[in-house]
Amino acid sequence: MGKKLAIATLVLTICLGFGSADAQKKQSYKHTVVLDAGHGGHDTGAIGKKGKEKDVVLSIALKVGDYLTKNSPDTRVIFTRDADFFVPLDERAAIANKNNADLFVSVHANSNKNTKPFGTETFAMGLHKSQGNLEVAQKENSVIVMEQDYNTKYEGFDPSSAESYIIFSLMQNVYLDKSLKLASMVQDEFREKAKRADRGVKQAGFLVLWHTKMPSILIETGFISNEEEEKYLMSDSGQDYLASAIYRAIRDYLASLDAEEQEVKKITIPDAESKPENTLCYRLQVATTSAPVANPIEKFPGKPDIFEYKDGNKYKYMIGRFATLDDASAYKKTISAEYPDAFIVPFNNGKKISMSEAKKLEK
Ligand SMILES: [Zn+2]
Repeated sequence: MGKKLAIATLVLTICLGFGSADAQKKQSYKHTVVLDAGHGGHDTGAIGKKGKEKDVVLSIALKVGDYLTKNSPDTRVIFTRDADFFVPLDERAAIANKNNADLFVSVHANSNKNTKPFGTETFAMGLHKSQGNLEVAQKENSVIVMEQDYNTKYEGFDPSSAESYIIFSLMQNVYLDKSLKLASMVQDEFREKAKRADRGVKQAGFLVLWHTKMPSILIETGFISNEEEEKYLMSDSGQDYLASAIYRAIRDYLASLDAEEQEVKKITIPDAESKPENTLCYRLQVATTSAPVANPIEKFPGKPDIFEYKDGNKYKYMIGRFATLDDASAYKKTISAEYPDAFIVPFNNGKKISMSEAKKLEK
């Protein structure tokens, strides 16, 4: 009995030990990046004279992952596929969403009936602005017909019909700006460091990017249909150049996120911090922004008591702090030349309240 209990305790300890080590490891990651090598398995993607898109993009994605794991240990890397197997497009996005990824990076290679075109281009999800961009998306999206019930899964989307793409003009992509920023960082690296031809940053309706809930891009690393570029794409050194360029863009993008976060933390609100909040008071709202002001004290000169209040997804900036509505009204007059649109906002216990609630509290 005693022995059994000891074994049970030992097993429990080991299990708990592993569990907490795993949890600790997860917590130590600052960012999560999902790397999506296009195609795979029976879906070969574009085919060149010698190589297949699915093989080239897998090698590049694995190399990007290697760079990230070795050089950015605080970034967790997740592959949608790390070998030659088929993954449906909607599942690729689901992997990123399930893991709350910060970025989704889909790696592809281009092809054209004409063997002349070459160069790299990076896409964000959006409505195409040219026939050429539409054709790239149509080609990449055409792989859904290899999936069972693609009609239901993609809501009747017909990858070959141009009309189907109109839905992307109705879609509001809240991650568009960030996706375009990352896309241009990738293209800058390709052009400046890897010395690849730069076909630019573009938008088109790629199904693989459709339902991701984070900044997402699709990279066309070159034309496998161009003989010279196919050689480069298939070579170990070519793949290294492309992968290190993508890695640096991801690294720098994540660093820019960290810098933004630091800026927000740096905001000091001396007056508001030193005064107790557990009373009714009135402030004067002078500005509303959708992103936090980097340095409010500089932005509102001569108002060291500037107070930032996050209200839903808006940032509201207020000056002054008065015990009575009369005092706040008097102050409003003194700043009316500088802030003609300023208005009084009552607060109680540090929370914004309505004027009628404030009146009740005053009684
Ligand atoms: Zn592809």
